[in-house]
Amino acid sequence: MLVRFWGVRGSTPTPQPENMRYGGNTSCVEVRVDDTFYVFDCGTGFRNLGKHLAAQAGAVEAHIFISHFHWDHIQGIPFFSPLYENRDSRFLFYSSTRSGNVTLRDVLEDQMVAPYFPVDMNQMAARREFCEVREGRIALDGSCRITATLLNHPQGCLGFRMETRSGVLVYATDNEPGDAFFDKQVRTLAEGADVLIYDAQYLPDEYAAKRRGWGHSHWREAVNVVMESGARELVLFHHDPDHDDECIDRIVREAGNYYPRVRAASEGMEITL
Ligand SMILES: [Zn+2]
Ligand SMILES: [Zn+2]
Repeated sequence: MLVRFWGVRGSTPTPQPENMRYGGNTSCVEVRVDDTFYVFDCGTGFRNLGKHLAAQAGAVEAHIFISHFHWDHIQGIPFFSPLYENRDSRFLFYSSTRSGNVTLRDVLEDQMVAPYFPVDMNQMAARREFCEVREGRIALDGSCRITATLLNHPQGCLGFRMETRSGVLVYATDNEPGDAFFDKQVRTLAEGADVLIYDAQYLPDEYAAKRRGWGHSHWREAVNVVMESGARELVLFHHDPDHDDECIDRIVREAGNYYPRVRAASEGMEITL
């Protein structure tokens, strides 16, 4: 399994020099398992993943899991060039609208309706399929098992657990601690994982002072989750737009005082399992 980070920032892109070492693009993580290609979230990092794929010859097939529909998780879709280019490419989008009134296709296409974007999804040549998922196991062919769990976030969010022969990866971002039900859910999702990618948007003080109810975690809770779930390695993710590189360095140092196997996600970082 190869995990590659294309966007690690939370909330909004931050293309300013003091954030460049960790990166300014919003959430997007690529995972390769054998010959199958998976993506978690389509923030602005998704655009660069598209450029990387377009540089390789031939059609692409990808399973794309979207945690929820806030801008920082979908905004790269209109700029993902492989969607426009090859009729033989196939992209399967998985998420939950948690609504009987609107389809997953509508939710994703509506960000491109006039006057918000100059072209609509009909301009995309590639085959697109939209799979509404529920909590629990997601039906997939291939060499891995993926389960989804609801997290504690305004308008909902899904966390994903990916089990393969080479290891277990958990992607759980946009989750606020403090609700006993959800606190247990995320620990169960992360149980025994080799790598836990987890929302560490805030500093603990910042969270306590003015960010309660915003739907995010802080690095100290990320440490609690990795330790209490028995996961092996913690990857801090969804960095706050106002946390520059030095701030994230400090977070990693402090978190490392509690748990040794911790690092912060950065654009271009790769993990092999
Ligand atoms: Zn987010
Ligand atoms: Zn969100």
